Amino acid sequence: MADDRLEQARSIAVELENEVARLRDLVADFTDPDPCHYDHHGYCQAHFWLQTEPACPHRRARELEGGGLDA
Ligand SMILES: [Zn+2]
Repeated sequence: MADDRLEQARSIAVELENEVARLRDLVADFTDPDPCHYDHHGYCQAHFWLQTEPACPHRRARELEGGGLDA
């Protein structure tokens, strides 16, 4: 029945929301609170991230948390 499918979808959505919350907590615990420091190549020397794309994972994690960009 349609009600069963709707209830199934709600249950899956709740499970996914809970998983996202757990992953966000984990990412927050992994993230270095110290800011990134970019060299003239745009590489983050603070976290030894030697590429520009994707950006330093600590920066992306702070963006995920809504912490904004580094100066
Ligand atoms: Zn960084």
